[in-house]
Amino acid sequence: MGIVQVQVSQGFPISSFALSSVSRASLSAFATPETGLASPTLSAVLIAGQAAAARELMPLLQQALPAEAVSVCASASEGVSQVSAQRLLGRTPGLFVFDLRGAALGELTSQLQLVWRAYPKAEVLVVADVRDSATFAGCLQVTGAPDRLTFILAPLQPRHTIEAVRTVAQRYRLARETERADADERTAIDGLELQIQELRARLDIAKHAARHDDLTGILNRTGFVEELTARLSRDRQPQNVLMIDLDRFKAVNDTLGHGAGDELVRKICMAIAGVIPSGGVLARLGGDEFGVIVEATTDQGVTSLCTQILKVCAQSRLISGHEVQVSASIGIAQQSAASEIELMRQADLALYAAKREGRNRYRLFDAALDKATKYRLSIEGGLERALRSGQFKMVYQPIVNAQDGAVLGYEALVRWDSPEHGAISPAEFIPIAEETGLILDIGDWIARQALKDCRRWNGPYVSINLSVRQFLRHNVAERILRYAADADVPTSRIQIELTETAIIDDVERADHNLKVLRAAGVRVALDDFGTGYSSLVYLNQFAIDCIKIDKSFVDNITRDRQSAMIVASLTKLAYSLGMTVVAEGVETEDQRKVLLATGCGALQGYLFGKPVTSREVSTRLEDQRRD
Ligand code: C2E
Ligand code: CA
Ligand code: CA
Repeated sequence: MGIVQVQVSQGFPISSFALSSVSRASLSAFATPETGLASPTLSAVLIAGQAAAARELMPLLQQALPAEAVSVCASASEGVSQVSAQRLLGRTPGLFVFDLRGAALGELTSQLQLVWRAYPKAEVLVVADVRDSATFAGCLQVTGAPDRLTFILAPLQPRHTIEAVRTVAQRYRLARETERADADERTAIDGLELQIQELRARLDIAKHAARHDDLTGILNRTGFVEELTARLSRDRQPQNVLMIDLDRFKAVNDTLGHGAGDELVRKICMAIAGVIPSGGVLARLGGDEFGVIVEATTDQGVTSLCTQILKVCAQSRLISGHEVQVSASIGIAQQSAASEIELMRQADLALYAAKREGRNRYRLFDAALDKATKYRLSIEGGLERALRSGQFKMVYQPIVNAQDGAVLGYEALVRWDSPEHGAISPAEFIPIAEETGLILDIGDWIARQALKDCRRWNGPYVSINLSVRQFLRHNVAERILRYAADADVPTSRIQIELTETAIIDDVERADHNLKVLRAAGVRVALDDFGTGYSSLVYLNQFAIDCIKIDKSFVDNITRDRQSAMIVASLTKLAYSLGMTVVAEGVETEDQRKVLLATGCGALQGYLFGKPVTSREVSTRLEDQRRD
């Protein structure tokens, strides 16, 4: 029912105005009591100019709205105040019925205006004469809203009047209901919008967390790779990738705890951030590893940045109350046409090269490094196969008495004839085995083989080289002693050779291992002496029997007086500390003479014999015995 129809008494219908804002569906839904929608209790006011009008209309209104508060007033102002009193009781001002028949039109419109201003949402019914078009026009001008202005035509027909009032009241209720539903909907929408906003914020937080590092707040590896990918895909300046790794960071974690390690990482992160040029990116890629992306400037620009980074990393810092100083190594890759993965791989390779070359330095990736790395990888793989398939061989080089050239012992030296690369120097593959850890197994094989061979010679001692990692292994002394027992070689015929780093890297463990070996009667020689930095007096507190003076001194001994004097004073010092001395790498008769003059007791070098197989050692020894 979209149209309110009010019939005039004469019987011809006059249409009031369209219900523009109320849909049919909602109107009918509202009209059905089963819907269970609670009707707002409303108040209706009759503004009657004359008592007769009140008498005629009031019963009709009460009949039309039996459940509502219906009242009658003489004027609009009275009606408005009455309605506002009703509001306090929770009744909404719904209907104003004007019956000012007989009054001047101006009177009607001014009263109407009063009501309309106070309650612009109310429904207004005006009793008017069918011929009174001036009243229609005047009222319409006041309200300006034809959809809430209804005329009841006089003379009044009770049934139609009641119906008109009911319909209008219904329309009013429905409008309020719709209004409330709209408001609810708006609140619901506002709520949803808030939820969406919150979800978005949470998503942003999650995204941020996925790309950033908890400890330092800078980008993590994921964020770094994304950033690098984005930069490479943009058509702009080529990029430089730096991989930075702290040297010996593990020692800080191990000795001061992880809290201190974290603190150090945070501080160093801040320090590096301070020297990265604007537009550059710093990320934490892992424990103590950082990544930097900077636009390629000149080579000089990059290297001076690296120098600065190394400098700030190496500053000494107070961490958990301790003075801590570490250094860093940096690998650099410069963008050619490489993908982000390739760039990072190159920077990584350069970083490992920097570490190998002694740490606290930067290294630029280049094709040679790539080749070297591939070679290295093939050696790494080859070493394991070599051990499994017996490709290693031992050779022995004599150590002789300086006075008469009599053989005192033999140094055991490993050899590897690789199927892929031919003969590879132990100076090359031992450090690789050391890095991969395979040296432990290779070293075991060497020790067992050397001891077995020594058993056959029946006389001279064997001198076995132990690498740093091998020597710092738990129970290394017990191992050697067990192998000696297995091979049935008396400990008096065994010497081990160590470099000073093997002692200095872990003084306590070294001290223990040396004591166990010495107590069992094994001799200990300090290899490559003179190439390190430790003082002999300091080293003497560890159980050492012999120093092997490095070939680099022997090489110069005939050419420059200073080398000869160094060897002479070292030898003297060693003897006064109770150690014996071997000079290595003696190649000429002249060298032998000078060394003899310095007081050196034992010599080793090509002059007395190159390394040979165990079988050859046995043959020579037999020849000597026969002579
Ligand atoms: P190193 O322990 O200083 O061994 C001496 C090296 O000098 C040996 O090289 C030896 O062949 C060489 N040499 C000896 N006399 C002369 C000479 O008169 N002139 C010249 N030019 N060289 C001479 P090699 O066998 O190539 O070994 C190199 C290094 O590899 C060794 O230096 C040692 O550090 C390591 N190494 C060799 N064998 C073993 C091993 O069985 N175990 C461990 N851990 N390291 C080993
Ligand atoms: Ca040696
Ligand atoms: Ca040596």
